[in-house]
Amino acid sequence: MSQPKSSNIHWHGAIVTPEERQATVGQKGAVVWLTGLSASGKSTIARRAEQLLLERGHSAYVLDGDNIRFGLNKDLGFSPADRTENIRRIGEVAKLFADACVITLTAFISPYRADRDSVRAITPEGTFFEAYVQAPIEVCEERDPKGLYKKARAGQIPEFTGISAPYEEPLNPEMLIKTGEGSIDECAMQILKELAAKGIISL
Ligand code: ADP
Repeated sequence: MSQPKSSNIHWHGAIVTPEERQATVGQKGAVVWLTGLSASGKSTIARRAEQLLLERGHSAYVLDGDNIRFGLNKDLGFSPADRTENIRRIGEVAKLFADACVITLTAFISPYRADRDSVRAITPEGTFFEAYVQAPIEVCEERDPKGLYKKARAGQIPEFTGISAPYEEPLNPEMLIKTGEGSIDECAMQILKELAAKGIISL
C-alpha cells in the first residue's frame, strides 16, 4: 500500500466499536464488488439487488461506474493509470460505506486483478465479496445498451475493455453471476442468497 503524502497526520479511531455500530444500525456492512465486461449486467443487477435489499429493510447503496465519473472521479480517463486510480478511490469510498454498515454494491468494469485485490486488501476480513458478472463477449456486444461496442468496433473508443484493452477475469470470486443464463431477478436474488450464506443478512 502506498504511503500518504503528508507526515503530520494521525489516525483517529471511533469511540464506538464496529460491533456496537452494527447492533445499533441492525446490520453488518459489506462490499459486493461487481466486476465484468461492459454490458455484462453489473449496473442492472446491482440496482435490482439494492432494491430487493431495501424492500427487506436493509440499508444498501450502489456506487456506479459512470455516475462516479461525473463527480468524484471527473478528472480521470481510461488510461491504465487512471483506471487504477479510479478503482482505488472507489475502493476507499466503498470501504467507508461498509464501515458505516451499508451493504455497498459497486458496478465498475474494474478490469485489473491487482486493483480489485488492492480493494480487498483494505477491507476488513469477510466483508469484501468479489462478484464476477459474467456473460460471453458476444452476448454483451449483442446487448450493447449504450452503443459502446459499436463505437469501439468502429475505432471511435480507444482502450475499450474486451476489444482494445484487457479484462483480467477473477480467479476465485466469492460470487459468479452468469447473466447470459439467469434472468435479472434471478441474478439479483443470487447476491442476496450469497450474502445470507455468508452471514451478512438473513433471508
Ligand atoms: P454493465 O453495467 O455491466 O455495463 P448494464 O447493466 O448497463 O451492464 O447493461 C446490461 C444489459 O443487459 C441491460 O440492457 C440489461 O437489461 C440486459 N440484460 C439481459 N439479461 C440480463 C441479466 N440476466 N442480468 C443483467 N442484465 C441483463
